[in-house]
Amino acid sequence: MSGLVYDLCDTGGVAADQLGRTGTELAELIGLGLPVPPGFVLTARACHAYLAAQEVPTELAEPVRAHLHELARRAGRKLGQSDDPLLLSLHADRPGSGQDAPAAPVRGIGLTDASVAGFIAAGGDERAVWDLYQRLVAAYGTVVAGIPAEKFEAELTRADWACGQAEQFCSGAAELPALVAAHKRVLREQTGREFPQDPNEVLESFVRATFDSWAVNGRGRRPLVTSGGALTISTMVFGHLGVDSGIGVAHTRDPGSGRPGVRGHYLPGARAGNLVSGPRGADSLARLARLNPDAHQRLLTISSIVDEHFRDLCDIDFVVERGRLWVLRAGPGRRGAAAAFRIAMALHDEGVIDDDEALCRVTGEQLTQLLFPRFDPGVPGQRVATGVAASPGAAVGQVVFDSVTAVSWAKAGRPVILVRTHTTQDDLPGMSLARGVLTSRGGQTSHAAVTARGLGRTCVTGADQLSVDTGGHRFTAPGGVLVREGDTVSIDGATGAVCLGEVPVVPSPVVEYFEGEIEPDADAVVHAVHRILRYADRRRVLAVRANADTPADAARARRFGADGIGLCRTEQMFSSDRRALIERLIVAEPDDHHERADVLAELLPLQRQDFQQIFRAMDGRPVTVRLLDPPLHEFLPDLTELSVRVALAEAGGAAEVADVWLLRVARRLHEHNPMLGLRGVRLGLVVPGLYEMQVRAIAEAAAACVTEGGRPRVEIMVPLVADATELAVVRERAEAVLAEVREHTGIDLPAAIGTMIELPRAALTAGRIAEHAQFFSFGTNDLTQTAWGMSRDDAESEFLPEYRAQGILTGSPFSSIDEEGVGRLITLATGEGRAARPDLHVGVCGEHGGDPESIHFFHRLRIDHVSCSPFRVPIARLEAGRAAACYPLPSVG
Ligand code: PEP
Ligand code: MG
Repeated sequence: MSGLVYDLCDTGGVAADQLGRTGTELAELIGLGLPVPPGFVLTARACHAYLAAQEVPTELAEPVRAHLHELARRAGRKLGQSDDPLLLSLHADRPGSGQDAPAAPVRGIGLTDASVAGFIAAGGDERAVWDLYQRLVAAYGTVVAGIPAEKFEAELTRADWACGQAEQFCSGAAELPALVAAHKRVLREQTGREFPQDPNEVLESFVRATFDSWAVNGRGRRPLVTSGGALTISTMVFGHLGVDSGIGVAHTRDPGSGRPGVRGHYLPGARAGNLVSGPRGADSLARLARLNPDAHQRLLTISSIVDEHFRDLCDIDFVVERGRLWVLRAGPGRRGAAAAFRIAMALHDEGVIDDDEALCRVTGEQLTQLLFPRFDPGVPGQRVATGVAASPGAAVGQVVFDSVTAVSWAKAGRPVILVRTHTTQDDLPGMSLARGVLTSRGGQTSHAAVTARGLGRTCVTGADQLSVDTGGHRFTAPGGVLVREGDTVSIDGATGAVCLGEVPVVPSPVVEYFEGEIEPDADAVVHAVHRILRYADRRRVLAVRANADTPADAARARRFGADGIGLCRTEQMFSSDRRALIERLIVAEPDDHHERADVLAELLPLQRQDFQQIFRAMDGRPVTVRLLDPPLHEFLPDLTELSVRVALAEAGGAAEVADVWLLRVARRLHEHNPMLGLRGVRLGLVVPGLYEMQVRAIAEAAAACVTEGGRPRVEIMVPLVADATELAVVRERAEAVLAEVREHTGIDLPAAIGTMIELPRAALTAGRIAEHAQFFSFGTNDLTQTAWGMSRDDAESEFLPEYRAQGILTGSPFSSIDEEGVGRLITLATGEGRAARPDLHVGVCGEHGGDPESIHFFHRLRIDHVSCSPFRVPIARLEAGRAAACYPLPSVG
């Protein structure tokens, strides 16, 4: 059996899915001539061979031995050697890791009780070596022995407290040997096993355990993995072996602006973790130039090779070990949202990338981050820690340490920041009411980060400089600063900054630009956003409309670049005092024609005024007005409350006549499942005159606009159609009204009549429906609810989080379109609709119209427009442009 193990220098022609992400990336750097520490890869095929045999087959064991031998030869030191040992790292690239975050690598394989001492004697920094050993033993306990990580984290926390939390990174040198002993004790108590003192055994155990975990994929109900994962085993190099060693990060360009020129940080005599959380206290690269001019020169050469190869700002993580430069990682660098836009335009201006590539270098997600308010850059806060910028925004509030307090304080109107070491499902109520969430552990994909992004809450995770004591309702920041429950802190979800006290918040300059309050060249980031959106607008095939129900929304949508209104929900126009009118209409007795006519006559001028203002704000662009679609219960009194009121009044002998009558009506109209009851077109068909009044108001408003010199482009949309005949009847009635208004005003109004496709039956009979519809608009909210048979609100608050935890679903079908199911209905309906009516215009107006992933899907389907909330319009414009740049569509013959 071949193809199981490859040296990183010798992977030519091996597919990336065999090498895994780490193996592929390192092999690419070696191909560029970069000095990468030697290593080898156990391929996905090796994983399969092991899982098939349930044993390490000889065809795998033999080459692994040979490659280990070769690593030892090249390093001049052996695994297990007690003085100056060879140490290895193991990177596991999970199957499907394009989606999943890579698991943390295991480092320090080769450390044993004896070699720890030998490594220190050979110059290794005592604290760094013991820290590496404690992490290795804890990783062995969790990965190999399957002990819950919390057991080891508890020991770590105990050690932190023992050393008074003075250190930024876990414990001091004096505590670490005891911590190693504590981890070993946990291992012994939980499994009866000792930590092996043979490094080959340790390595083999990690390999077996990782492969085994992929067999069941560790997520319970997911199907068995068939693609297999790869492992990369590399020689470790260290920056703490004395003055001629060090670690650093170089950026091939200015990481804020993308302008040319190598920047970076170098820390002599340092260990890996020192730079991980940012360049606090790190020296600039000039220090490397002074200490080791050759290594510095080499780094500059590497920087230009890498920058040219990736055609992007790159980060280079490097180590100088005993004078020799090694590259650990190099590739497109981490960047914040603002920098991403500036870097893309800088590279574009240099001619390094073209318009399409500039579009592909930024995302709607990054643009979203730029729309949040941020901390005033002119007021430096008292920063006490920096964590991972996990969910954007700027949040100021009083700290609380548990979800229950967060809920009660927030309900009492106090702004809260929920602080935890990490969060779980139990924290959800507190998270959803807090202004922000701060955790001392975790990263971009931890529970806190993912949940906060879903909730739209500002979040900073992994602020590991903080010692959080949830039981004691306090946390301690470096320097012994104590923050107690109720104290105010400010957290910045864009930079990860945690500041004491209240830092003033300012509006987003990008929003100010969209609002027309500042010019595009007033700010470098705004200018880059402005230019990239211009490319996107030129490039996109999808039109982007807005869901806007009021003249103010329509005006904002236009400022934010909407091509029209894709959904004007008319039921939103019946709030406050107008609500009473619609209530009267709905509760009117079936034969009370007078009452109904009175209400409709009162509503007509109000509606006409609404529409006229909206058409004015969107003059010259299409406006899709949806006829009324309220779930009936929203306009009826609560049946239980009313029953109790009447019963109590009757018991007292004085029930109001009106209440008694209302109760009878409420009982008559009561529905067991209002979302599937008398709403949408059904209401329009059974409440005489309602839709006719709306169509008349639309037509008269449009005619008034024409008289003013405007060019209204009206589209009338019928909601919740399930059968072609429903639409045919409404259409006939609407056309009669349009003809009347035309005759009456003398203005010829071309108004398109179309329908929403938001029920599976409508999608399945789209061909017949299209005979009566000039356009379709997919209501993907209802279509998702009815295709899945689940109500969004119930699903998201009750069982979807649990589904995600069990790995049944990875996201929510209500956020990103379910391509396999709902997407199939949309594909079918679009195809059949266009077959019946080739000029059928097709749009999407559910929430998915503003979701980047879904927009790419709609682009591929050749949908004509998406529609989303005004604030998401720029994001949709960008993503529609990116979709066109990423998936150029062949022209239709
Ligand atoms: C939809 O169902 O997708 C839609 C846009 O309608 P609403 O959300 O108003 O039901
Ligand atoms: Mg709907």
